[in-house]
Amino acid sequence: MMNKTSMIYVHIPFCVKKCDYCDFTSFVCDEDTKSRYFESLFKQIDTESESVGKLPIDSVFIGGGTPSCVNEKYIYKLSEKLKDRFDVKGGAEFTIECNPGSVTKEKLSVYKEAGINRISIGLQSTDNSELKLLSRVHDYEGFLRTYDLVRGAGFGNVNIDIMSALPTQTRSSYKKTLECVVSLKPEHISAYSLIVEEGTPFYERYKDGKGLPGEDVDREMYHDTKAFLKENGYERYEISNYAKTGFEFKHNTGYWTRKPYLGFGLAAASFFNEERSTMHSDLRRYIEGDHEKEVEKISKEDAMAEFMFLGLRLTKGVSKKAFEEVFSLCIYDVYGKEIEELTKEGLIIDGKEVLYLTDFGLDVSNVAMAKFLK
Ligand code: SF4
Repeated sequence: MMNKTSMIYVHIPFCVKKCDYCDFTSFVCDEDTKSRYFESLFKQIDTESESVGKLPIDSVFIGGGTPSCVNEKYIYKLSEKLKDRFDVKGGAEFTIECNPGSVTKEKLSVYKEAGINRISIGLQSTDNSELKLLSRVHDYEGFLRTYDLVRGAGFGNVNIDIMSALPTQTRSSYKKTLECVVSLKPEHISAYSLIVEEGTPFYERYKDGKGLPGEDVDREMYHDTKAFLKENGYERYEISNYAKTGFEFKHNTGYWTRKPYLGFGLAAASFFNEERSTMHSDLRRYIEGDHEKEVEKISKEDAMAEFMFLGLRLTKGVSKKAFEEVFSLCIYDVYGKEIEELTKEGLIIDGKEVLYLTDFGLDVSNVAMAKFLK
């Protein structure tokens, strides 16, 4: 059942400042803590690679947090460690998340030397008052300087993250963000709606929805994104992700197609041998060398459901033949009723070889995917 190659995710849980809407595992820490974190991270990689062997890897993603806020020497050592312990393939996609203002020319040249070939920049909005409300550390001008540095360093595969449904954001201010981003011609754009997460300062401020664009406006922004990015040569290949031809994000596509991956670092998840495991999120315990994970064995029923609801996120849909190959069962014997209902409701197209969500199905994807969760 296992694919030939796997992927690696590494979590760097440090940021310059905590944003008010963020519920990711990330902290503002001193240099000593960062150094001890990397020591512990390298130990985890050593230990776990011993048990799985020198696996072939075709995608590495260093995420966070803000990986670009740590000294580049750690990123270089991390890359060396991964290449030493795994068979990182020559053409592997190798991404690092960067935030505006936290990269320098020197850092970028070390990233290149380390083999990183894709940069993902968290912009969120080009409107400085919106950025301020999000409590981001950067402004739009700072982002532009970072973007120029990234291009100047020769990176030809760049993603920009943007967000809609932000406090005070209007359809026209969001359109401006879309226009500015497109004018920069990144290869990839991720466009998500803000989710107000419990436990964040935003939750206290906005839990009743006041001060945020309403659901109708959010839907309009979502439709604006689809239309505008399409007009400008970006293909939507997943519900919230758009790319120029050939620049789809392989790593996330791997998540959606249930490709095995190893996660290293605090709170990082792994999916390997039909088992999902997640590292705890206690930074103090982690730097003291406690690498205990919560392990969840995935049943065949759950695996089939995942195959469907993850795969349907992709506009190309799920292959019926692949389902049969993986599970030795005909897709109609397992989900015949669901497929029939979704087809009748106009949410899914039952093509000759693949099943995929219609435009309307993608718009209400939660409804379609819920069918596969029994
Ligand atoms: S930069 Fe990203 S990870 Fe860091 S606090 Fe802000 S939203 Fe969270």
